[in-house]
Amino acid sequence: MKDAQIQYFKTKLHELRADLLESLKSRYDEAINLGTDTGKDSADEAYSIYSRNLMLGRVETDALKLRLVEQALNRIREGTYGVCMECGEEIEERRLEYVPFARYCTECKSELEKKGVIKM
Ligand SMILES: [Zn+2]
Repeated sequence: MKDAQIQYFKTKLHELRADLLESLKSRYDEAINLGTDTGKDSADEAYSIYSRNLMLGRVETDALKLRLVEQALNRIREGTYGVCMECGEEIEERRLEYVPFARYCTECKSELEKKGVIKM
């Protein structure tokens, strides 16, 4: 991959990281607040537990994404960014455009997902 492309994806990854940190923080705060309401009836309570779990599920997804973004930035530093970690081929640029933190090429990804090795 050319330096200019690396720079481009690096910027994208940094932006993505900032977004994720922001949304993680606000969702986390929201989830905490949902748990501190008192004096509700049980339906409300069930609902707030449900929304809190939903929120925490999203927090989990964001946290996982954030980890992948960090790993992608590490690969940029190490000079291995954009290379599939499974087969060693270059990852399609169209895929990186959509998922800048992609670790695998489309083919390996669907193969690994089928085997249940990865979720994202
Ligand atoms: Zn591959």
